[in-house]
Amino acid sequence: MRRHRLKAPAGVVADYFRLFVNRRAYTLQSDRPHPESGRHYYFRPTDKNTGQGLSLTLDTIRRHIEGEITIALYAINPENQRCKWVAIDADYKNALPDLIKLGYYLKQDAVESALEKSHRGGHLWVLMAEPLPARDCRIYVYDLASRLGLPVKGAGLPEGIEVFPKHDELKPGEYGNAIRGPLGIHRGAAKRFWFYGADYDLAKQMRYLNALPKVTAAQLAKLNAGKSAPPQAVRAESRPEAEFKQRTGRLEFRILDHISTKLRKVGRNYVTRCPSCADVGHDRSGDNLAISIDDPRKYICWAGCTSEMIRAAVGCPKPRTNGGKDGR
Ligand SMILES: [Zn+2]
Repeated sequence: MRRHRLKAPAGVVADYFRLFVNRRAYTLQSDRPHPESGRHYYFRPTDKNTGQGLSLTLDTIRRHIEGEITIALYAINPENQRCKWVAIDADYKNALPDLIKLGYYLKQDAVESALEKSHRGGHLWVLMAEPLPARDCRIYVYDLASRLGLPVKGAGLPEGIEVFPKHDELKPGEYGNAIRGPLGIHRGAAKRFWFYGADYDLAKQMRYLNALPKVTAAQLAKLNAGKSAPPQAVRAESRPEAEFKQRTGRLEFRILDHISTKLRKVGRNYVTRCPSCADVGHDRSGDNLAISIDDPRKYICWAGCTSEMIRAAVGCPKPRTNGGKDGR
């Protein structure tokens, strides 16, 4: 990895923060591959003493750009439900031609985009002149993708483009989805991915991003005239969730919504691999986590992972109760 270490000029770090950071919460890519899938998963880094989510700083960005760590950035600022960018992730066969096609048609709308390589395909970034509502960004991109007949992952399709932000808005305590920060080194590929539009040099890449025309609020409003929200954006709250929220003012977390590993029934519990153990390569036998069948809000890791650790591992950290702003 050492050969990737580049010195990140302070100006590049500051520009990066201004262009890409929507909120200070972030995720970190694991240095070690998952023992079974071989993938390098992202997790929410926490303070070892307080258990609270770490807050992104200029130094975090510097370490990411220099290749010491690899972080992913969230798409939505929860305070105003806005985004500084839209990123379209495509990592299937023939992903690059689809992204190039998308970039071409964006340009027909006078929307400039920057194409970045990725492990298996690419990320197409559209930058905003000012943070714009996630809902409006999504309306535009989904409409364009459907006009082009591009496959959108999740809409009944296992493969296709993924649009970040994936939500119109975040509910209290939600984080939404994060995508690898540009110019980072993929821990698995041990490779830096650059934007195609400039020389492979940090200062030149940032000059290119700075000069890239940004989408304005007026432009987006004009492009969206007469368009409606994508169906993927509609996410009805289930009844028990809504009741719980009414009763407690909080959203109910149900671990089963976040578990993708196989469940086995053992007595009155489901048993499966603990996501927090899995992050560090443990629980290979896949039986540390027990979830009550009667009340799936109740779960326990026999290896001692706390609910904070488990929720961080599934990308749905517990909302903090101390009112602190760090890590948000
Ligand atoms: Zn565990």
